[in-house]
Amino acid sequence: MKTSHTTQDWSTDDARWTAVNRRDKDADGEFFYAVKTTGVFCRPSCASRLPRRENVAFFNTTDDARAAGFRDCKRCQPGGLPRELEIVRRACAALDADPQQRLTLAQLSDAVHVSPFHLQRLFKRVVGVSPRQYQAAQRGAALRDALSRGADVTRASADAGFSSPSRMYDTAPAELGMAPSAYRRKGAGLTVRYASAPTNLGIVLVAATEKGICRIAFGDDETALVDEMRDEFANAELIADTAALAPFIGQIRAYLHGERERFDLPLDIAATAFQQRVWDALRRIPYGETRSYSEIAESVGSPRAVRAVASACASNPVALAIPCHRVIHKGGSLAGYRWGLPRKTVLLDTEAQHAADTTRRPAGTATITDLDHAA
Ligand SMILES: [Zn+2]
Repeated sequence: MKTSHTTQDWSTDDARWTAVNRRDKDADGEFFYAVKTTGVFCRPSCASRLPRRENVAFFNTTDDARAAGFRDCKRCQPGGLPRELEIVRRACAALDADPQQRLTLAQLSDAVHVSPFHLQRLFKRVVGVSPRQYQAAQRGAALRDALSRGADVTRASADAGFSSPSRMYDTAPAELGMAPSAYRRKGAGLTVRYASAPTNLGIVLVAATEKGICRIAFGDDETALVDEMRDEFANAELIADTAALAPFIGQIRAYLHGERERFDLPLDIAATAFQQRVWDALRRIPYGETRSYSEIAESVGSPRAVRAVASACASNPVALAIPCHRVIHKGGSLAGYRWGLPRKTVLLDTEAQHAADTTRRPAGTATITDLDHAA
């Protein structure tokens, strides 16, 4: 399964020579070039003087170059960090360069030349936290520094990159959902960022608070989806922010293409105690399987509450992340779906097909999901 964003092809010597001439960082790790006159080999982006074309040989790996008698260039150290670590190192350097500046994931991925989705995943795998959490931690450290030197709180928090002293207290990302009071007040006091994007299921709208995803909805019309959200969060500050939501939309697309079975999405949703129980039960239905409304009612200890279960499913605010599409009628008919029956049909088909593929897949074959959980 191809997880790289890159569509560049460095399989021909001509393409490789072009990359060397451009000192293309994207090509680093993809191949190496050796210089016959000096006996050294380099990464494509090496800053050394360009050799003449006729003195250059290309190799796929450092081992191949060494086997042919070439030494590592001291300048670009082709045998150094693997490409993925190098990307993360560059990302950290960009974040460290100016802690006061809040880099979005999109700006950061521009700076290091990989897609936001790829960067988010790499960064988490190598550093253990997202770039955003890393930045927050750096700001926290800068703040503690300033305060310990006796700076005043307002000044110190501003210097550390917090927009206000109150923002500074809002630190650790909470696992728990939105306070029902905030939800009842139609999001008063909340900042909700949102973005929409086309998918094979129509337009998806994703919205998130500082703590997590609060809405995933599908529709045919972007304006209608945004209006619906405005209605629900009438008192929140709503900000269209494609960059911030890009990693989540990436996950949704991967899921819709059968390339991902689970979401790493922190949720921030308000629920009654009963809805919470039902939604938890839905999240326990394995990928590719379905349950009936009465099975869910039984599993939450209210076997007669079948209708209430159906209405909890219908009020699910986050499509896919809470897989209410996996609940069907006892007899096997699909029943309803908040975002339309045709979408439910496609979702169940995709899951059934991919779950079958997974069963047939030989042991030891990695998938995106395996990689994500290997960290
Ligand atoms: Zn070099």
